Amino acid sequence: MDASPRPPTGPGDLAARSLRQVWHPCTQMKQQAKLPLVALSHGEGPWLVDTGGERYLDAISSWWVNLFGHANPRINAALVDQLGRLEHAMLAGFTHEPVVSLAERLSALTGGVLGHAFFASDGASAVEIALKMSFHAWRNQGHGDKREFVCVRNGYHGETLGALAVTDVALFRDAYDPLLRHAHVVASPDARNAGDGETSLDVARRAAAELDTLLTQREGRIAAVIVEPLVQCAAGMAMHDPEYLRLVRALCDRHGAHMIADEIAVGCGRTGTFFASEQAGVWPDLLTLSKGISGGYLPLSLVLSRDAIYDAFYDDDTARGFLHSHSYTGNPLACRAALATLDIFADDDVLAANAVRAQRLTQGLGSLADDPRAKHFRHRGMIWAFDAVLPEVPDVPEVPGMAGTFAKRFYTEARARGVLLRPIGATVYLMPPYVLDDDTIDWLARQTLAAFDSTMGAIAAGQEMTA
Ligand SMILES: *Cc1c(COP(=O)(O)O)cnc(C)c1O
Repeated sequence: MDASPRPPTGPGDLAARSLRQVWHPCTQMKQQAKLPLVALSHGEGPWLVDTGGERYLDAISSWWVNLFGHANPRINAALVDQLGRLEHAMLAGFTHEPVVSLAERLSALTGGVLGHAFFASDGASAVEIALKMSFHAWRNQGHGDKREFVCVRNGYHGETLGALAVTDVALFRDAYDPLLRHAHVVASPDARNAGDGETSLDVARRAAAELDTLLTQREGRIAAVIVEPLVQCAAGMAMHDPEYLRLVRALCDRHGAHMIADEIAVGCGRTGTFFASEQAGVWPDLLTLSKGISGGYLPLSLVLSRDAIYDAFYDDDTARGFLHSHSYTGNPLACRAALATLDIFADDDVLAANAVRAQRLTQGLGSLADDPRAKHFRHRGMIWAFDAVLPEVPDVPEVPGMAGTFAKRFYTEARARGVLLRPIGATVYLMPPYVLDDDTIDWLARQTLAAFDSTMGAIAAGQEMTA
């Protein structure tokens, strides 16, 4: 541990002032001091513009939240209108149009299957709520022994203590492990785990068989199984066959466990359908949503639940209710941003337009499929990923070393080309907002390939790299 330097700063240097005073997320601040921060002035559609006028294409949607660009005129207008009406009010004992409309519209998008919406502010809180609801619903139904959770290897569900307990990412978890109430971790259906002659479907079945074994061993003890449908994003965009979700659904039904679908990253059209679960044709018992739901504007998360879970709490006894709250539960501004976001989905037929965009970007990146320096080039909906083939790189992306060096170098190379891309270890991924036109898509593909070329060139040359 070193004492942190406190550089004297002038009022003009935003990046230096930030380093001095702001504790940045998911960041070793000593390393950040060597890598200049980008001080932003404003956003414009898919672009972020810094204080010096440099433009960066936000190809990861600002940590997967932005759907329709920055400073979107339609979302802005909705927010301005809402500001003149009601900025916030408590949701216990009160209600308002934005929160009711949003709950109605989301329920309708599930065909009414997930008929109740519980609101919070960030993704991790939504996961906490889903875990608590599952346990408490079982307890109210006389099954208080169901108090264990199952999560998937390399899964990510957020970083508060409860969410971290069902997260299997060593880098985020290890330091806090002694504080956690451990969940069972079962095999990932990650299609990259296919052995010789195996298909992604085989991998899905193999992973589900392991879950079946666990649920049998712990019969009567498991409250819920939590999964990230179709893409385990933080694991490094690990994609799987939808069959896995059908098998999890069937196993949960057979063994009497809830299925929690964490759609915080994969919901809101990211995988090609509004909810990722739709592609498997199954609905979970609880579904978490955040990130894109407010268009990337304001913190908003929610848990959608089936009637059966809601009904388990519906009683004369106060303590059998779900006595959970957050100060900003159901914030009207955030809900209005979400309604404006849903309006754009409906008015512009966004899912169909994205299918066309996706085809073009897949084509633009096509050379990666047979590039010996890249493996597992994969795509689902508006997510693309590939893994760099590095000398002696461990397969676990978050392990520092060559993968970490690659990630930093690639980030720097992409940034120099005006693209914001932050690889997860050796995995480069693109998760752009849903507003790219043809020229921007082609340009993004070219810059991505160029950044990959120069990064791999530098690594091959054994060049000294910024660590
Ligand atoms: C981002 C994410 C979370 C946590 O959301 P926060 O708003 O960052 O707390 C949970 N689950 C998944 C799948 C996520 O991608």
